[in-house]
Amino acid sequence: MNLELSEEQEAVRRLARDFVEREVVPHATAWDRAEEVDRGIVKKLGEVGFLGLTIDEEYGGSGGDHLAYCLVTEELGRGDSSVRGIVSVSLGLVAKTIAAWGSEEQKRAWLPGLTSGEYVGCFGLTEPGTGSDAGNLTTRAVRDGGGTSRSWGSPRSSEAENGGGAGSGGDYVVNGTKMFITNGTWADVVLLFARSTDAPGHRGVSAFLVPTDTPGLTRRAVHGKLGLRGQATAELVLEDVRVPASAMLGPEGKGFSVAMSALAKGRMSVAAGCVGIAQAALDAAVRYAGEREQFGKTIARHQLVQELISDIAVDVDAARLLTWRVADLIDRGKPFAVESSKAKLFASEAAVRAANNALQVFGGYGYIDEYPAGKLLRDARVMTLYEGTSQIQKLVIGRALTGVSAF
Ligand code: FAD
Repeated sequence: MNLELSEEQEAVRRLARDFVEREVVPHATAWDRAEEVDRGIVKKLGEVGFLGLTIDEEYGGSGGDHLAYCLVTEELGRGDSSVRGIVSVSLGLVAKTIAAWGSEEQKRAWLPGLTSGEYVGCFGLTEPGTGSDAGNLTTRAVRDGGGTSRSWGSPRSSEAENGGGAGSGGDYVVNGTKMFITNGTWADVVLLFARSTDAPGHRGVSAFLVPTDTPGLTRRAVHGKLGLRGQATAELVLEDVRVPASAMLGPEGKGFSVAMSALAKGRMSVAAGCVGIAQAALDAAVRYAGEREQFGKTIARHQLVQELISDIAVDVDAARLLTWRVADLIDRGKPFAVESSKAKLFASEAAVRAANNALQVFGGYGYIDEYPAGKLLRDARVMTLYEGTSQIQKLVIGRALTGVSAF
């Protein structure tokens, strides 16, 4: 087993580090206070290739393997989780899912825009009444033969580009509400999950690619978040939204499989972002401990401060290794979903612990947002909640080990 990064991977990491130091770190506190990341960051992320990682070059992607994707995600997470989330969702949950499940026409219509940063994507699974129990979502897509909606595709697509997953011809009329949607107010396209047949539970769910300017789709920003304050989180309301059948991604009734396959890889990306948070906590704690003096010596010389720092360091290493294992499995074409749940479970809990330990090292100054620990803790806290809570990850792992489902 070789845990050394290749030259190419080292170069990607350096590129990401430089980008984050230049374009993200200097602004992160201001964006957090303003509750808005500068939208110009999307174009910059596209230009440097970070929105096209693992996507084929013929669709505008920048190629690369999943370890490179993790390295970039970690660096972005180190700089600002709100920026990391843009990539994890627009590329990780949307573009990569179109690449995996989309028709040729769907890939050509959406991927160049998503990978360049011309478009932003969002992932519409959660509803006000269904979070962990996503298979019981209630948004309805009812087949209607009229076929009056505009041509399918991206905002710039033509009739000729039309085509899609399931049936062709006719429309679906969609009604429902989606909650907590990352990138929601910014997005040009939502990967939307809706119940399109009467089959019970997750078997009735299908996936659709819906341009967010489709009549009947409205968005409301969610404010007052504990962390990720710079991130555009939204509630999406769909009232009689007409979607052509060609907008379906993957086969009818397979929408839950589309969602779960997206989240299995997405959890690796969240885990990598958590490694970034924990690394930032470690760097900040070590620096501060070497500067701050109490009892006539730097606090780094106090054993209990060293304990806090070493606990963070072990969490960083363990979370990173679990995350890299997932990337390695994906790149070798091996099963990875359970390992992804393990990485996400451990890394998210570790990021919360690490940020909390760093805050302790900073003492009272850790409680003030001129110092980084408070934001790291606030941003880390959501990681144990989204893309499956820690409890849900344990049920996924437990099911794989025991062969029985406790859901
Ligand atoms: P619930 O499912 O109501 O859970 C409440 C509690 O009950 C949790 O502790 C949970 O672990 C526990 N619980 C539930 N079921 C079980 C069980 N079977 N056994 C044991 N414990 C259980 N969703 C999207 O679709 N797209 C996004 O882009 C997106 N971004 C988000 C961004 C933010 C900032 C936030 C906060 C959420 C986002 N989400 C998104 C939604 C997120 O995925 C859900 O919040 C999450 O899945 C949990 O659902 P819930 O909030 O409804 O909690």
